[in-house]
Amino acid sequence: MDKKTDSNSSLMQKDLEVIWHPCTQMKDHEVYPIVPIKSAKGVYLYDFDGNSYIDAVSSWWVNLFGHCNEYINLKIKEQLDTLEHVILAGFSHKPAIELAHRLVSVTPVGLDKVFFADNGSSAVEVALKMSYHYHLNCGANRPLFLSLSNSYHGETIGALSVGDVALYKQTYAPLLLQCIQAPVPIDSTLEASKIALVKLEEILASRGSEISAFILEPLIQGAGGMHIYHEYYLVGARELTKKYNIHMICDEILTGFGRTGTMFASGKAQITPDFMTLSKGLTGGYLPLSVVMTTNEVYNAFYCDYSEYKGFLHSHSYTGNALACSAALATLDIFEEHNIVEQNIEKSFQMAKALERFHILANVKETRIIGMIAVIELKEYQLSDRIGLKIHEFALSRGVLIRPLGNVVYVMPPYIIQKEEISKIFDIIYDAIISLS
Ligand SMILES: *Cc1c(COP(=O)(O)O)cnc(C)c1O
Repeated sequence: MDKKTDSNSSLMQKDLEVIWHPCTQMKDHEVYPIVPIKSAKGVYLYDFDGNSYIDAVSSWWVNLFGHCNEYINLKIKEQLDTLEHVILAGFSHKPAIELAHRLVSVTPVGLDKVFFADNGSSAVEVALKMSYHYHLNCGANRPLFLSLSNSYHGETIGALSVGDVALYKQTYAPLLLQCIQAPVPIDSTLEASKIALVKLEEILASRGSEISAFILEPLIQGAGGMHIYHEYYLVGARELTKKYNIHMICDEILTGFGRTGTMFASGKAQITPDFMTLSKGLTGGYLPLSVVMTTNEVYNAFYCDYSEYKGFLHSHSYTGNALACSAALATLDIFEEHNIVEQNIEKSFQMAKALERFHILANVKETRIIGMIAVIELKEYQLSDRIGLKIHEFALSRGVLIRPLGNVVYVMPPYIIQKEEISKIFDIIYDAIISLS
């Protein structure tokens, strides 16, 4: 490509000739432009026409410490000149070993084994397969999974099966695994969690013996509209899953690494699930990597002579990639050296303050916040109103990248965001919402 003539529009044209974008009706781009990004630094993205954008969604919830972070860059470059990747079956490498040890030490007590994969959905697949296989190895066939209503666990067939967002799932219904839903607590009150736990126990009492695992997004359901519920539900769900001998899978792909105000959401409820899936923030938003953490009890149910055929014969080509592991190690270094979870408290507080003035707007239903996720839910609009898209376009024209989920506008910034940038984001969202009426 000719560098001198590169512009947003020339690159968009070349892009649309060959690229099919994720989660997109491509025809939209007859009207709405694709934004080609030339470079990025900190919370800012820069396009080819000289515009800048604050990345207020952490590039789809992955970025923690900014783009082109100097420390993470340095650590990846060091690793790049040492070892880029090696097969993880029969072989190992220091970044994977060190990362697995550090993950065991920062996650809830009892999660002592680490299985590597390379993206969030594949980690969910691993957890589902392991859980089913565990029960099989123990002599029980339990082909059913339980999840929460309104849940999201990824887009691959197994992950989609345990999700409950109709927009993504409905089309593929005939292809999916067997799964039933327990109602998610309707709001963040203790009362709502108590009611939902009664329902959960009813389901477990009647169908428990068919169910391998209960998978859930702890504390907040992300793609399901940033729906927040009380940690009491997690405590109760842990007790009930133990009582009915069902695994609990905490999908912390979004909530892990400080997003909800504690290092892990399950940590806030002080529970240890049987499985925890991690990805997104794991590498600071740099490289695809995921892990499934589990217990020695699960691990031991697969540990026997080969000829018993109980091993977990699952793999991905890029499992435990060394560059991705080095990015993850650098990310953990930053958490430790800069006391990030503490530092975020003030930022979360500032976001909470910024939400207050939205209450008076006629089309705002409610606002909510948990840790580094601030949410403004608008009153109901038709899906066909494309309200989220309108707000996205408005904010983009003012230099802020947000990507509402329908009528749910949220801010999920990288943790290095500064006071003035938080103010700017909320000012622009305020104007965007006003512009709707
Ligand atoms: C994003 C997400 C996934 C899927 O991860 P991918 O890397 O996009 O496949 C799974 N679960 C939760 C809770 C997520 O937010």
